[in-house]
Amino acid sequence: MPSKCPNCGKQTLYHNEGVSKKTGEPYANNKCSACKFIEWEDLRSKTSSQPQNSPSNASLPQNGAVILLDEIKALNTRFDAMAEFLAKMDKKINELIDLAKG
Ligand SMILES: [Zn+2]
Repeated sequence: MPSKCPNCGKQTLYHNEGVSKKTGEPYANNKCSACKFIEWEDLRSKTSSQPQNSPSNASLPQNGAVILLDEIKALNTRFDAMAEFLAKMDKKINELIDLAKG
């Protein structure tokens, strides 16, 4: 629907909108076909504001995995120590059995 051009005053202002090929952003303006005057519309004020930086929990599982890995490492060290201890005990028991046998 043509409206009055604020530049030349003629009824040749046409609404024009689309998506910019350069930026990919939607645009809207009123273009005068007589003097090529372009009246830009502010689309940002129309669109509902959405939170841009929503807190992401993407890093949490990673940290959890690292903590778990550390605990597994610690457990492995403890199991190694326990296995060493049991081997020593086994040796001692065998020694005691040998002593008992005389
Ligand atoms: Zn005009």
